[in-house]
Amino acid sequence: MAEKKEKSTEKGLSEKKENFSEWYSQIIERAEIVDTRLEMKGFIVVRPWGTLIIEKMYDFYEEELQKKNHKPVIMPSVISEANLKKESDHVQGFTPEVFWLKTEKGEDKLALRPTSETLFTPMFKLWIRSHRDLPLKLYQRGSVFRLDTKATRPLIRGREFQWIESHNAFATKKQAENQVQEDIGITETIMHQKFGIPFLPLKRPTWDKFAGAEYTIGSDVIMPDGKLIQQPSTHLMGQKFSKAFDAKFKDEKGNEDYLWTTAYGPAISRILVSVISTHGDDKGLVLPFCISPIQIIIVPIYTKENKEKIIAYAKRIKNKFKKYRVEIDERDFYTPGWKFNEWELKGVPFRIEIGEKELKKDNLTLFLRDDRKKELLSLRNINKLDKYFEEFDNRLKKNAEKILKNSIINCKTKEEIKKVIKEGKIAKTNFCSIEKEGIKCAEYVEKEINADIRGILATKKEISSGNCVICNKPAKEIVYIGRSY
Ligand SMILES: [Zn+2]
Repeated sequence: MAEKKEKSTEKGLSEKKENFSEWYSQIIERAEIVDTRLEMKGFIVVRPWGTLIIEKMYDFYEEELQKKNHKPVIMPSVISEANLKKESDHVQGFTPEVFWLKTEKGEDKLALRPTSETLFTPMFKLWIRSHRDLPLKLYQRGSVFRLDTKATRPLIRGREFQWIESHNAFATKKQAENQVQEDIGITETIMHQKFGIPFLPLKRPTWDKFAGAEYTIGSDVIMPDGKLIQQPSTHLMGQKFSKAFDAKFKDEKGNEDYLWTTAYGPAISRILVSVISTHGDDKGLVLPFCISPIQIIIVPIYTKENKEKIIAYAKRIKNKFKKYRVEIDERDFYTPGWKFNEWELKGVPFRIEIGEKELKKDNLTLFLRDDRKKELLSLRNINKLDKYFEEFDNRLKKNAEKILKNSIINCKTKEEIKKVIKEGKIAKTNFCSIEKEGIKCAEYVEKEINADIRGILATKKEISSGNCVICNKPAKEIVYIGRSY
Protein backbone atom coordinates (compact mmCIF):
# COMPACT_ATOMS: atom_id res chain seq x y z
CA MET A 1 0.00 0.00 0.00
CA ALA A 2 2.90 2.32 0.69
CA GLU A 3 3.52 3.39 -2.89
CA LYS A 4 -0.14 4.13 -3.54
CA LYS A 5 -0.69 7.85 -3.94
CA GLU A 6 -3.51 9.67 -2.22
CA LYS A 7 -4.78 12.57 -4.27
CA SER A 8 -6.51 14.04 -1.22
CA THR A 9 -3.13 14.98 0.24
CA GLU A 10 -2.55 17.32 -2.70
CA LYS A 11 -3.66 20.89 -2.41
CA GLY A 12 -7.29 21.41 -3.45
CA LEU A 13 -8.48 23.83 -6.10
CA SER A 14 -9.18 27.47 -5.30
CA GLU A 15 -12.84 28.22 -4.81
CA LYS A 16 -14.46 29.07 -8.11
CA LYS A 17 -16.77 31.69 -6.58
CA GLU A 18 -14.06 33.36 -4.50
CA ASN A 19 -11.25 33.46 -7.00
CA PHE A 20 -12.36 32.47 -10.46
CA SER A 21 -9.16 33.54 -12.19
CA GLU A 22 -6.96 31.36 -10.00
CA TRP A 23 -9.46 28.48 -10.16
CA TYR A 24 -9.35 28.62 -13.97
CA SER A 25 -5.55 28.65 -14.14
CA GLN A 26 -5.36 25.67 -11.80
CA ILE A 27 -8.09 23.57 -13.33
CA ILE A 28 -6.87 23.70 -16.93
CA GLU A 29 -3.46 22.39 -15.83
CA ARG A 30 -4.57 19.90 -13.18
CA ALA A 31 -7.35 18.37 -15.27
CA GLU A 32 -4.71 17.96 -17.99
CA ILE A 33 -6.46 20.14 -20.54
CA VAL A 34 -3.39 22.20 -21.44
CA ASP A 35 0.28 22.60 -20.67
CA THR A 36 1.83 26.05 -20.90
CA ARG A 37 5.40 25.09 -20.07
CA LEU A 38 6.82 25.55 -23.54
CA GLU A 39 6.84 29.21 -22.53
CA MET A 40 6.10 30.80 -25.88
CA LYS A 41 3.76 33.74 -25.35
CA GLY A 42 0.28 32.89 -26.58
CA PHE A 43 1.07 29.31 -27.65
CA ILE A 44 0.04 26.28 -25.63
CA VAL A 45 0.00 22.51 -25.79
CA VAL A 46 -3.45 20.93 -25.61
CA ARG A 47 -3.03 17.59 -23.84
CA PRO A 48 -4.87 14.37 -24.78
CA TRP A 49 -7.82 14.90 -22.41
CA GLY A 50 -8.35 18.44 -23.77
CA THR A 51 -7.82 17.33 -27.34
CA LEU A 52 -10.36 14.51 -27.07
CA ILE A 53 -12.96 16.98 -25.78
CA ILE A 54 -12.14 19.45 -28.56
CA GLU A 55 -12.44 16.67 -31.17
CA LYS A 56 -15.92 15.79 -29.91
CA MET A 57 -16.91 19.46 -30.07
CA TYR A 58 -15.60 19.72 -33.63
CA ASP A 59 -17.65 16.63 -34.55
CA PHE A 60 -20.92 18.17 -33.36
CA TYR A 61 -20.18 21.45 -35.09
CA GLU A 62 -19.12 19.94 -38.40
CA GLU A 63 -22.06 17.57 -38.47
CA GLU A 64 -24.43 20.51 -38.03
CA LEU A 65 -22.65 22.62 -40.68
CA GLN A 66 -22.84 19.77 -43.17
CA LYS A 67 -26.53 19.31 -42.35
CA LYS A 68 -26.96 22.94 -43.37
CA ASN A 69 -25.20 22.24 -46.70
CA HIS A 70 -21.75 23.59 -45.91
CA LYS A 71 -18.90 21.65 -47.52
CA PRO A 72 -15.43 21.29 -45.98
CA VAL A 73 -12.25 22.58 -47.63
CA ILE A 74 -8.61 22.74 -46.60
CA MET A 75 -7.02 26.12 -47.21
CA PRO A 76 -3.34 27.02 -46.91
CA SER A 77 -2.16 28.40 -43.55
CA VAL A 78 -0.54 31.34 -45.33
CA ILE A 79 -1.84 34.30 -47.32
CA SER A 80 0.12 36.36 -49.79
CA GLU A 81 0.69 39.98 -48.84
CA ALA A 82 -1.03 41.12 -52.03
CA ASN A 83 -4.23 39.25 -51.19
CA LEU A 84 -4.24 40.11 -47.49
CA LYS A 85 -4.04 43.79 -48.34
CA LYS A 86 -6.80 43.89 -50.96
CA GLU A 87 -9.67 44.98 -48.68
CA SER A 88 -8.63 48.20 -46.95
CA ASP A 89 -10.73 48.09 -43.73
CA HIS A 90 -9.76 44.47 -43.28
CA VAL A 91 -6.06 45.13 -43.69
CA GLN A 92 -6.15 48.08 -41.30
CA GLY A 93 -7.91 45.96 -38.71
CA PHE A 94 -5.63 42.97 -38.99
CA THR A 95 -2.18 44.11 -40.14
CA PRO A 96 -0.85 44.95 -36.68
CA GLU A 97 -1.71 41.40 -35.60
CA VAL A 98 -0.06 39.52 -38.45
CA PHE A 99 2.88 37.14 -38.24
CA TRP A 100 4.98 37.60 -41.39
CA LEU A 101 7.06 34.73 -42.72
CA LYS A 102 10.47 34.96 -44.23
CA THR A 103 10.38 34.01 -47.93
CA GLU A 104 12.90 33.52 -50.72
CA LYS A 105 14.26 36.59 -52.45
CA GLY A 106 11.91 37.79 -55.18
CA GLU A 107 8.92 35.86 -53.77
CA ASP A 108 5.74 37.43 -52.44
CA LYS A 109 5.72 38.13 -48.72
CA LEU A 110 3.55 35.62 -46.82
CA ALA A 111 1.45 36.04 -43.71
CA LEU A 112 0.25 33.33 -41.33
CA ARG A 113 -3.53 33.55 -41.74
CA PRO A 114 -5.22 35.61 -39.01
CA THR A 115 -8.60 34.74 -40.64
CA SER A 116 -9.28 33.57 -44.17
CA GLU A 117 -11.61 35.94 -46.08
CA THR A 118 -8.70 36.77 -48.36
CA LEU A 119 -8.15 33.08 -49.16
CA PHE A 120 -11.79 32.23 -49.82
CA THR A 121 -12.84 35.25 -51.88
CA PRO A 122 -10.23 34.79 -54.65
CA MET A 123 -11.41 31.16 -54.90
CA PHE A 124 -15.06 32.28 -55.05
CA LYS A 125 -14.02 34.40 -58.02
CA LEU A 126 -12.68 31.28 -59.76
CA TRP A 127 -15.38 28.82 -58.72
CA ILE A 128 -18.50 30.91 -59.20
CA ARG A 129 -19.58 31.88 -62.73
CA SER A 130 -23.33 32.25 -62.53
CA HIS A 131 -26.34 32.11 -60.21
CA ARG A 132 -26.33 28.36 -60.86
CA ASP A 133 -23.17 28.04 -58.75
CA LEU A 134 -24.86 29.78 -55.81
CA PRO A 135 -25.17 29.62 -52.91
CA LEU A 136 -21.67 28.32 -52.18
CA LYS A 137 -21.28 27.41 -48.52
CA LEU A 138 -17.85 26.27 -47.35
CA TYR A 139 -15.95 25.83 -44.11
CA GLN A 140 -12.58 24.78 -42.86
CA ARG A 141 -11.33 23.66 -39.48
CA GLY A 142 -7.90 24.63 -38.29
CA SER A 143 -5.79 27.19 -36.49
CA VAL A 144 -5.42 30.89 -37.05
CA PHE A 145 -2.60 33.08 -35.82
CA ARG A 146 -2.69 36.56 -34.36
CA LEU A 147 0.27 38.52 -33.12
CA ASP A 148 -1.47 39.67 -29.95
CA THR A 149 0.63 42.07 -27.92
CA LYS A 150 -1.71 42.12 -24.93
CA ALA A 151 -1.58 39.64 -22.07
CA THR A 152 -2.56 36.17 -23.28
CA ARG A 153 -4.44 33.51 -21.32
CA PRO A 154 -4.62 29.81 -22.20
CA LEU A 155 -7.61 29.08 -24.48
CA ILE A 156 -9.14 32.50 -23.72
CA ARG A 157 -6.75 34.68 -25.63
CA GLY A 158 -3.86 33.20 -27.56
CA ARG A 159 -1.70 33.80 -30.58
CA GLU A 160 -2.93 30.57 -32.11
CA PHE A 161 -6.38 29.09 -31.62
CA GLN A 162 -8.51 26.24 -32.98
CA TRP A 163 -11.64 27.17 -34.80
CA ILE A 164 -13.95 26.56 -37.71
CA GLU A 165 -14.47 29.32 -40.20
CA SER A 166 -17.30 29.16 -42.63
CA HIS A 167 -17.33 31.44 -45.68
CA ASN A 168 -20.34 31.70 -47.91
CA ALA A 169 -21.37 33.41 -51.13
CA PHE A 170 -24.88 34.38 -52.24
CA ALA A 171 -26.69 36.11 -55.08
CA THR A 172 -28.62 38.58 -52.92
CA LYS A 173 -28.25 40.53 -49.72
CA LYS A 174 -31.42 38.90 -48.38
CA GLN A 175 -29.93 35.43 -48.78
CA ALA A 176 -26.72 36.55 -47.09
CA GLU A 177 -28.68 37.99 -44.17
CA ASN A 178 -30.62 34.75 -43.86
CA GLN A 179 -27.28 32.96 -43.57
CA VAL A 180 -26.28 35.22 -40.69
CA GLN A 181 -29.51 34.24 -38.91
CA GLU A 182 -28.90 30.57 -39.71
CA ASP A 183 -25.43 30.89 -38.14
CA ILE A 184 -26.99 32.15 -34.90
CA GLY A 185 -29.24 29.08 -35.11
CA ILE A 186 -26.19 26.80 -35.36
CA THR A 187 -24.69 28.43 -32.26
CA GLU A 188 -28.02 27.82 -30.52
CA THR A 189 -28.25 24.17 -31.61
CA ILE A 190 -24.68 23.25 -30.75
CA MET A 191 -23.25 25.58 -28.13
CA HIS A 192 -26.45 26.10 -26.16
CA GLN A 193 -28.53 22.95 -26.68
CA LYS A 194 -25.64 20.44 -26.87
CA PHE A 195 -22.90 21.94 -24.70
CA GLY A 196 -25.27 23.73 -22.31
CA ILE A 197 -23.88 27.24 -22.83
CA PRO A 198 -26.62 29.87 -23.22
CA PHE A 199 -25.70 33.14 -24.88
CA LEU A 200 -26.91 36.57 -25.89
CA PRO A 201 -26.81 37.01 -29.69
CA LEU A 202 -25.89 40.69 -29.96
CA LYS A 203 -25.51 42.88 -33.00
CA ARG A 204 -22.33 44.79 -32.25
CA PRO A 205 -22.13 48.58 -32.38
CA THR A 206 -20.66 49.80 -35.63
CA TRP A 207 -17.37 50.76 -33.90
CA ASP A 208 -16.99 47.18 -32.71
CA LYS A 209 -17.68 45.15 -35.86
CA PHE A 210 -15.28 42.82 -37.64
CA ALA A 211 -12.72 44.63 -39.79
CA GLY A 212 -14.27 44.62 -43.27
CA ALA A 213 -17.82 43.62 -42.31
CA GLU A 214 -21.08 45.53 -42.81
CA TYR A 215 -22.18 44.23 -39.44
CA THR A 216 -21.23 41.63 -36.87
CA ILE A 217 -23.36 39.55 -34.53
CA GLY A 218 -21.47 38.14 -31.58
CA SER A 219 -22.59 35.61 -28.99
CA ASP A 220 -21.88 36.79 -25.46
CA VAL A 221 -21.52 34.23 -22.70
CA ILE A 222 -21.26 35.18 -19.04
CA MET A 223 -18.28 33.91 -17.06
CA PRO A 224 -18.34 33.20 -13.30
CA ASP A 225 -16.52 36.51 -12.64
CA GLY A 226 -19.36 38.39 -14.34
CA LYS A 227 -17.34 39.27 -17.43
CA LEU A 228 -18.63 38.47 -20.90
CA ILE A 229 -16.66 36.34 -23.30
CA GLN A 230 -17.35 36.56 -27.01
CA GLN A 231 -18.23 33.20 -28.51
CA PRO A 232 -19.05 32.46 -32.19
CA SER A 233 -19.63 35.56 -34.23
CA THR A 234 -21.15 35.84 -37.67
CA HIS A 235 -20.57 38.65 -40.13
CA LEU A 236 -22.38 40.11 -43.07
CA MET A 237 -19.50 41.07 -45.33
CA GLY A 238 -21.87 42.43 -47.94
CA GLN A 239 -20.02 43.07 -51.21
CA LYS A 240 -16.89 44.51 -49.63
CA PHE A 241 -14.60 41.54 -50.19
CA SER A 242 -16.15 40.57 -53.51
CA LYS A 243 -15.54 44.12 -54.80
CA ALA A 244 -11.96 44.06 -53.51
CA PHE A 245 -11.35 40.79 -55.36
CA ASP A 246 -13.63 41.53 -58.32
CA ALA A 247 -15.63 38.38 -57.59
CA LYS A 248 -18.77 38.56 -59.73
CA PHE A 249 -21.52 36.29 -60.99
CA LYS A 250 -24.15 36.45 -63.73
CA ASP A 251 -27.78 36.47 -62.57
CA GLU A 252 -30.74 34.82 -64.38
CA LYS A 253 -31.05 37.73 -66.79
CA GLY A 254 -27.35 37.66 -67.61
CA ASN A 255 -26.53 40.78 -65.59
CA GLU A 256 -23.28 40.83 -63.63
CA ASP A 257 -23.20 41.63 -59.93
CA TYR A 258 -20.73 41.24 -57.08
CA LEU A 259 -21.20 38.30 -54.71
CA TRP A 260 -22.76 38.80 -51.29
CA THR A 261 -20.63 37.07 -48.68
CA THR A 262 -20.83 36.09 -45.02
CA ALA A 263 -18.46 34.50 -42.51
CA TYR A 264 -19.03 32.58 -39.28
CA GLY A 265 -16.30 31.61 -36.84
CA PRO A 266 -16.88 29.31 -33.89
CA ALA A 267 -13.58 29.10 -31.98
CA ILE A 268 -13.75 25.61 -30.54
CA SER A 269 -10.89 26.15 -28.07
CA ARG A 270 -12.67 29.24 -26.75
CA ILE A 271 -16.02 27.47 -26.42
CA LEU A 272 -14.14 24.95 -24.28
CA VAL A 273 -13.35 27.87 -21.93
CA SER A 274 -17.08 28.40 -21.42
CA VAL A 275 -17.70 24.69 -20.93
CA ILE A 276 -14.98 24.52 -18.28
CA SER A 277 -15.98 27.75 -16.54
CA THR A 278 -19.76 27.42 -16.66
CA HIS A 279 -20.14 23.80 -15.58
CA GLY A 280 -17.01 23.23 -13.47
CA ASP A 281 -17.00 23.33 -9.65
CA ASP A 282 -14.59 23.28 -6.73
CA LYS A 283 -13.87 19.59 -7.33
CA GLY A 284 -12.92 20.07 -10.97
CA LEU A 285 -14.45 19.89 -14.41
CA VAL A 286 -18.03 18.83 -15.04
CA LEU A 287 -18.22 17.75 -18.67
CA PRO A 288 -21.46 17.44 -20.61
CA PHE A 289 -22.18 13.77 -21.26
CA CYS A 290 -22.17 14.33 -25.03
CA ILE A 291 -18.56 15.55 -25.21
CA SER A 292 -16.85 13.76 -22.34
CA PRO A 293 -14.09 11.50 -23.71
CA ILE A 294 -15.12 8.95 -21.08
CA GLN A 295 -18.82 9.10 -20.24
CA ILE A 296 -18.88 6.38 -17.61
CA ILE A 297 -15.88 5.34 -15.58
CA ILE A 298 -16.12 2.04 -13.75
CA VAL A 299 -13.98 1.90 -10.62
CA PRO A 300 -13.71 -1.65 -9.30
CA ILE A 301 -12.95 -1.95 -5.59
CA TYR A 302 -11.03 -5.12 -4.95
CA THR A 303 -8.37 -6.94 -2.95
CA LYS A 304 -5.81 -9.42 -4.23
CA GLU A 305 -8.22 -12.22 -3.34
CA ASN A 306 -11.35 -11.07 -5.14
CA LYS A 307 -9.80 -9.04 -7.96
CA GLU A 308 -10.59 -11.53 -10.71
CA LYS A 309 -14.27 -11.79 -9.76
CA ILE A 310 -14.73 -8.03 -9.45
CA ILE A 311 -13.01 -7.26 -12.76
CA ALA A 312 -15.13 -9.90 -14.49
CA TYR A 313 -18.22 -8.21 -13.05
CA ALA A 314 -16.95 -4.79 -14.21
CA LYS A 315 -16.56 -6.16 -17.74
CA ARG A 316 -20.08 -7.55 -17.63
CA ILE A 317 -21.38 -4.12 -16.76
CA LYS A 318 -19.26 -2.43 -19.41
CA ASN A 319 -20.76 -4.75 -22.03
CA LYS A 320 -24.21 -3.49 -21.17
CA PHE A 321 -23.24 0.04 -22.22
CA LYS A 322 -21.94 -0.66 -25.71
CA LYS A 323 -23.26 2.58 -27.19
CA TYR A 324 -21.40 4.74 -24.68
CA ARG A 325 -17.76 5.58 -24.02
CA VAL A 326 -17.01 3.45 -20.95
CA GLU A 327 -13.73 2.54 -19.31
CA ILE A 328 -12.71 0.38 -16.38
CA ASP A 329 -9.98 1.90 -14.21
CA GLU A 330 -7.93 -1.20 -13.44
CA ARG A 331 -4.75 0.57 -12.35
CA ASP A 332 -3.43 -1.38 -9.37
CA PHE A 333 -1.08 1.34 -8.17
CA TYR A 334 -3.83 3.81 -7.24
CA THR A 335 -6.41 3.50 -4.46
CA PRO A 336 -10.13 3.73 -5.29
CA GLY A 337 -10.21 7.06 -3.44
CA TRP A 338 -7.43 8.44 -5.59
CA LYS A 339 -9.27 7.31 -8.70
CA PHE A 340 -12.51 8.92 -7.53
CA ASN A 341 -10.78 12.28 -7.14
CA GLU A 342 -8.96 11.93 -10.44
CA TRP A 343 -12.12 11.31 -12.50
CA GLU A 344 -14.04 13.99 -10.62
CA LEU A 345 -11.27 16.46 -11.41
CA LYS A 346 -11.44 15.46 -15.07
CA GLY A 347 -15.19 15.90 -15.12
CA VAL A 348 -16.40 12.41 -16.10
CA PRO A 349 -20.22 12.63 -15.76
CA PHE A 350 -20.87 9.16 -14.29
CA ARG A 351 -18.90 6.80 -12.11
CA ILE A 352 -19.88 3.25 -11.33
CA GLU A 353 -18.37 1.76 -8.19
CA ILE A 354 -18.45 -1.99 -7.73
CA GLY A 355 -17.02 -4.06 -4.93
CA GLU A 356 -17.84 -7.24 -3.03
CA LYS A 357 -21.03 -5.67 -1.65
CA GLU A 358 -22.39 -4.80 -5.12
CA LEU A 359 -21.25 -8.07 -6.69
CA LYS A 360 -23.13 -10.19 -4.13
CA LYS A 361 -26.49 -8.71 -5.02
CA ASP A 362 -25.93 -7.87 -8.68
CA ASN A 363 -25.93 -4.17 -7.84
CA LEU A 364 -23.86 -1.17 -8.72
CA THR A 365 -23.27 2.17 -7.04
CA LEU A 366 -23.76 5.10 -9.37
CA PHE A 367 -22.15 8.48 -8.72
CA LEU A 368 -23.34 11.61 -10.51
CA ARG A 369 -20.62 14.18 -11.05
CA ASP A 370 -22.80 17.31 -11.07
CA ASP A 371 -24.71 16.96 -7.80
CA ARG A 372 -22.26 14.39 -6.40
CA LYS A 373 -25.05 12.07 -5.28
CA LYS A 374 -24.69 8.32 -5.01
CA GLU A 375 -27.34 5.76 -5.72
CA LEU A 376 -27.48 2.00 -5.40
CA LEU A 377 -29.00 0.37 -8.48
CA SER A 378 -29.85 -3.18 -9.39
CA LEU A 379 -28.34 -4.55 -12.58
CA ARG A 380 -31.88 -5.47 -13.60
CA ASN A 381 -32.82 -1.79 -13.76
CA ILE A 382 -29.82 -0.75 -15.75
CA ASN A 383 -31.94 0.49 -18.68
CA LYS A 384 -33.10 3.26 -16.40
CA LEU A 385 -29.68 4.82 -16.84
CA ASP A 386 -30.29 5.93 -20.43
CA LYS A 387 -32.70 8.48 -19.00
CA TYR A 388 -30.13 9.56 -16.39
CA PHE A 389 -27.59 10.23 -19.13
CA GLU A 390 -30.06 12.33 -21.06
CA GLU A 391 -31.07 14.31 -17.98
CA PHE A 392 -27.47 15.08 -17.04
CA ASP A 393 -26.78 17.50 -19.89
CA ASN A 394 -30.21 19.00 -19.50
CA ARG A 395 -29.48 19.79 -15.86
CA LEU A 396 -26.20 21.53 -16.73
CA LYS A 397 -27.97 23.56 -19.38
CA LYS A 398 -30.83 24.58 -17.08
CA ASN A 399 -28.41 25.76 -14.38
CA ALA A 400 -26.46 27.84 -16.87
CA GLU A 401 -29.68 29.35 -18.23
CA LYS A 402 -30.69 30.39 -14.74
CA ILE A 403 -27.35 32.14 -14.19
CA LEU A 404 -27.60 34.10 -17.44
CA LYS A 405 -31.23 35.04 -16.86
CA ASN A 406 -30.54 36.29 -13.34
CA SER A 407 -27.55 38.30 -14.57
CA ILE A 408 -29.50 40.60 -16.86
CA ILE A 409 -30.78 43.65 -14.97
CA ASN A 410 -32.92 46.44 -16.38
CA CYS A 411 -31.37 49.81 -15.56
CA LYS A 412 -32.83 53.31 -15.77
CA THR A 413 -29.92 55.47 -14.60
CA LYS A 414 -26.13 55.66 -14.88
CA GLU A 415 -25.89 54.89 -11.17
CA GLU A 416 -27.92 51.72 -11.58
CA ILE A 417 -25.66 50.61 -14.43
CA LYS A 418 -22.57 51.26 -12.32
CA LYS A 419 -23.98 49.18 -9.49
CA VAL A 420 -25.00 46.30 -11.74
CA ILE A 421 -21.59 46.20 -13.43
CA LYS A 422 -19.84 46.24 -10.05
CA GLU A 423 -21.90 43.23 -9.02
CA GLY A 424 -20.66 41.34 -12.07
CA LYS A 425 -23.91 41.47 -14.00
CA ILE A 426 -25.20 42.71 -17.34
CA ALA A 427 -27.07 46.02 -17.59
CA LYS A 428 -29.92 46.31 -20.06
CA THR A 429 -30.88 49.89 -20.84
CA ASN A 430 -32.08 52.57 -23.26
CA PHE A 431 -29.36 53.90 -25.52
CA CYS A 432 -29.26 56.53 -28.24
CA SER A 433 -27.66 54.55 -31.07
CA ILE A 434 -25.20 51.79 -31.96
CA GLU A 435 -24.43 53.71 -35.16
CA LYS A 436 -21.72 56.38 -35.31
CA GLU A 437 -23.74 58.98 -33.38
CA GLY A 438 -23.70 56.81 -30.25
CA ILE A 439 -19.93 56.59 -29.96
CA LYS A 440 -19.61 59.47 -27.46
CA CYS A 441 -21.99 57.75 -25.06
CA ALA A 442 -20.11 54.47 -25.53
CA GLU A 443 -16.85 56.20 -24.65
CA TYR A 444 -18.47 57.58 -21.51
CA VAL A 445 -19.55 54.07 -20.50
CA GLU A 446 -16.07 52.75 -21.12
CA LYS A 447 -14.35 55.51 -19.15
CA GLU A 448 -16.76 56.14 -16.30
CA ILE A 449 -18.32 52.74 -15.82
CA ASN A 450 -15.47 50.58 -17.05
CA ALA A 451 -17.78 48.54 -19.28
CA ASP A 452 -18.68 48.13 -22.96
CA ILE A 453 -21.80 48.56 -25.04
CA ARG A 454 -22.05 44.97 -26.25
CA GLY A 455 -24.90 45.56 -28.69
CA ILE A 456 -28.60 44.95 -29.30
CA LEU A 457 -30.45 41.64 -29.38
CA ALA A 458 -30.09 40.25 -32.90
CA THR A 459 -32.85 37.67 -32.91
CA LYS A 460 -35.73 39.84 -31.78
CA LYS A 461 -36.34 43.58 -32.07
CA GLU A 462 -36.62 45.05 -28.59
CA ILE A 463 -38.50 48.32 -28.78
CA SER A 464 -37.09 51.17 -26.72
CA SER A 465 -39.14 53.93 -25.19
CA GLY A 466 -37.67 56.91 -23.41
CA ASN A 467 -34.25 58.49 -23.58
CA CYS A 468 -30.63 57.40 -23.67
CA VAL A 469 -29.42 56.91 -20.07
CA ILE A 470 -26.18 58.67 -20.92
CA CYS A 471 -26.98 61.67 -23.19
CA ASN A 472 -30.73 61.87 -22.60
CA LYS A 473 -31.51 62.09 -26.33
CA PRO A 474 -34.34 59.85 -27.62
CA ALA A 475 -33.21 56.23 -27.44
CA LYS A 476 -33.25 54.21 -30.66
CA GLU A 477 -32.18 50.97 -29.02
CA ILE A 478 -32.08 48.80 -25.97
CA VAL A 479 -28.49 47.77 -25.40
CA TYR A 480 -26.68 45.30 -23.20
CA ILE A 481 -23.70 46.59 -21.23
CA GLY A 482 -21.07 44.46 -19.55
CA ARG A 483 -17.40 44.08 -18.83
CA SER A 484 -15.67 41.83 -21.29
CA TYR A 485 -12.62 39.68 -21.84
ZN1 LIG B 1 -26.62 58.56 -25.85
